[in-house]
Amino acid sequence: MNKKTVILGAGVSGLATAYWLKKSGADVTVLEKSSQVGGSMESISENGYLFDRGPNSGLETTEFVKELVDGVGLSDQMIYASPSGNKRYILRNNELHALPMSPPGLIKTKLFSTSAKFRLIGEMFVGRSKEGYYQSVAQFVKRRLGEEFLDYAINPFVSGVYAGRPEDLSVKSAFPKLYALEENYGGLIIGTIRSIRARKKRKEIAKQSAKMFSFKKGMQALPKAVASWLGDSVITLADVTSVSKDGERYKVVYNNAGSEKSILCDIVISTLPSFVASKLFAHMDDGLPAHLDSIYYPPVMVLYVGFKKEHIGRPLDGFGFLIPEKEEKSFLGAIWSSVLFPDRGPEDTAAFTLFIGGARNASIMNEDKDLVAERSINEFMEIMKINEEPLYKAMRFWGKAIPQYNIGYIEHERYADEFEKKNKGIILSGNFRGGISVGDCIKNSDLVAKKAMSLIKS
Ligand SMILES: Cc1cc2nc3c(=O)[nH]c(=O)nc-3n(C[C@H](O)[C@H](O)[C@H](O)COP(=O)(O)OP(=O)(O)OC[C@H]3O[C@@H](n4cnc5c(N)ncnc54)[C@H](O)[C@@H]3O)c2cc1C
Repeated sequence: MNKKTVILGAGVSGLATAYWLKKSGADVTVLEKSSQVGGSMESISENGYLFDRGPNSGLETTEFVKELVDGVGLSDQMIYASPSGNKRYILRNNELHALPMSPPGLIKTKLFSTSAKFRLIGEMFVGRSKEGYYQSVAQFVKRRLGEEFLDYAINPFVSGVYAGRPEDLSVKSAFPKLYALEENYGGLIIGTIRSIRARKKRKEIAKQSAKMFSFKKGMQALPKAVASWLGDSVITLADVTSVSKDGERYKVVYNNAGSEKSILCDIVISTLPSFVASKLFAHMDDGLPAHLDSIYYPPVMVLYVGFKKEHIGRPLDGFGFLIPEKEEKSFLGAIWSSVLFPDRGPEDTAAFTLFIGGARNASIMNEDKDLVAERSINEFMEIMKINEEPLYKAMRFWGKAIPQYNIGYIEHERYADEFEKKNKGIILSGNFRGGISVGDCIKNSDLVAKKAMSLIKS
């Protein structure tokens, strides 16, 4: 136990890993470049509005979320989404259609044509694909469920989760559980029914039935609480500039508010974005940058807008809506933030989060951000039947937002595994491995901590 672990990055992946390690008695330090912790998890309060500039919520898909929240004493701040947020809408022909959640709902909905509904039932008779791993989400869904379901359910869903495109994402890497239903059971409908028992055994909750959570003061409350539990094990304003071998150990050099410092350690866990890790570890392996640099992070603009409730011409009875690419709008969708969680804006207002850009519309990177925002707000107001300008507007632009598990990702994953084997004591983690959601990052951090503990004990 006298081995030292240094974790690079204090996003949720780094902090949760540090939490499990410290609980197991390990000596751990977290180095974070920014002045605050949380990485993508950023929440700000302004003029009575609470703006989550990155993730708006998480899904409690495993017991690790609750364990972490309870462990750092944040249980009384944790909140679950209101049941009114269960309804999700999809835009088609400028109208919002509730996404059907049951067979009778599917029969009644006008979101899909009659032939698309019959095609869905036909899924049970579609065989396994010969393409294996190298299939896009689009290829997989079109073959199994038909083109209309791809365009009006999966396309918007994929942009809601990854800000990605089904044509680019690998089904095996981006939606491993979906792929496994075909691989293990031969189909999605049959697989969903038969996999329930296996999931219970793994103590996992299906994403569609997992509880959606946040915190009274927004999502950043979680990394802040984990960091304060870790105390002086977390060093902010620590920009890691190099990691190198020093005898049997590693030397991590960082710039701390202008002065260069270093730590000698036995285990280095990187939770940095792949394009940052690529530069730090390039000198240890010539082939690594080609893999890490080709993981694409599209830009995403997040807009937060508040309107007087009385100016909104349609009921606020759901989670929000997603927009299929075919509808050709300037934004990807909107979350009805103040329906989901309390105190997201002043009493008589409703607050919304709009997402713009993603892999679908990466050109926003080079456009005038104010014009893009204005165009999106106008379209949003038309869809929501809002006839007065917003009372509040705020924006956060992420130049490199979310890693895409695109076709070929599996090669990057294998290479990273090989790199870890060749460089004992270095672990590559973060949201470009093991899932991008907050819930997956927390689950993965437990696996990473176990991996580190076995190195500590070896
Ligand atoms: C706009 C947006 C919306 C999202 N919405 C959701 C959602 O609703 N639900 C959901 O579950 N997930 C969502 N996600 C995904 C999820 O938030 C992220 O995948 C997750 O928070 C990533 O955590 P991480 O710790 O792996 O990486 P990060 O949060 O990126 O943390 C990496 C950390 O490394 C630090 N760092 C970088 N370089 C250095 C260096 N040289 N030295 C030291 N530190 C360094 C960074 O400052 C950062 O703090 C969203 C993401 C974005 C961007």
